[in-house]
Amino acid sequence: MIVIAGRGGQELSRAQRELVTVARRLAGDLGSQVAYLAVGPEAEAAARRAGAFGIGRAVAIELNDASGAVEPIIENLAQGARRLGASVVLLAADHLGVQAGPRLAARLGGSALNDAVDVRVEDGRVIWTRPVFGGKALADVVLRRSPAVVTVRSGAFEAAEEGAGEAAVDVLEAVAVDTAVRVVQREEGRQEGPRLEEARVVVSGGRGLGGPEGFQRLAELAELLGGAVGASLAAVDEGWAPPEWQVGQTGKMVAPDVYFAVGISGASQHLAGISGAKAVVAINKNPDAPIFKVARLGVVMEYEKLLPALIEAVKRELA
Ligand SMILES: Cc1cc2nc3c(=O)[nH]c(=O)nc-3n(C[C@H](O)[C@H](O)[C@H](O)COP(=O)(O)OP(=O)(O)OC[C@H]3O[C@@H](n4cnc5c(N)ncnc54)[C@H](O)[C@@H]3O)c2cc1C
Repeated sequence: MIVIAGRGGQELSRAQRELVTVARRLAGDLGSQVAYLAVGPEAEAAARRAGAFGIGRAVAIELNDASGAVEPIIENLAQGARRLGASVVLLAADHLGVQAGPRLAARLGGSALNDAVDVRVEDGRVIWTRPVFGGKALADVVLRRSPAVVTVRSGAFEAAEEGAGEAAVDVLEAVAVDTAVRVVQREEGRQEGPRLEEARVVVSGGRGLGGPEGFQRLAELAELLGGAVGASLAAVDEGWAPPEWQVGQTGKMVAPDVYFAVGISGASQHLAGISGAKAVVAINKNPDAPIFKVARLGVVMEYEKLLPALIEAVKRELA
């Protein structure tokens, strides 16, 4: 059984719908079935919703754990995966997924892989592909122990289209977990517009913006294009952008259709986060900046001169 793990809610997120695509491909090649496992608030709603994606079987575990600790989620994912007889468990490679995946695999006696960007089946063996060395190379990996618990990078697969259908849902009692983790404070990140990892357009700024004001202009462009704002580590370190905007090896992995890199040099650690972008548009005053090596479109110019004109042009286009 190929199991897609999610957190509940009325809608399946884009990342979840991408997992549906992976699961369908695997199930087709392996002659297996797809099931959905929802653990979290509104788990049953999400489990029912999975039926609209052609998924016949689902398990819902209503978990309303105010502590925000990951341990109860892992324990209940393990419970659900066992119930479904999972041979593969797919999670989105987001903040929770990359923490929970390997621990879930250990709990189930399986094997773990984070950040898969492709998968194929050869002679009955499932071969996963993931970026290594900060995105400079791709590694093919075969996971030996079952279940394979795999987190999948957002944007690496097309999102499945919603159809019609009903899943048969088993509702299980949540297992209570006595966790050693105590959450002392929670701070909500700033979230306007689409999530960075799921945005079709990302407008990112770096140290070249010269100050926080530059990000206001980027936000204006992002809003016009229905996109999200990102930042380099340097811009975050300067305090011009919040940490949750950071894109790169130690930040978020993004995979938009268009990635604007404004005043960003293109260090390998930054590029590691944008290898899934379909097209990069670089705006940089230095013609030798490494970002131009990965750019589909490059503009050598001070961004202060280009951005207002670009914003006006987009406004005209949208009017
Ligand atoms: C372990 C490790 C992990 C890291 N993880 C990350 C990560 O996740 N994400 C990340 O981004 N970095 C990461 N870094 C840092 C990375 O190495 C770079 O230092 C960082 O990406 C540089 O950010 P930047 O391009 O904004 O700044 P800079 O390298 O200083 O580049 C600024 C650019 O702006 C251009 N510029 C200046 N003025 C203008 C102007 N007026 N108009 C247009 N262009 C202008 C310059 O020509 C230059 O190319 C990591 C580093 C390490 C060691």
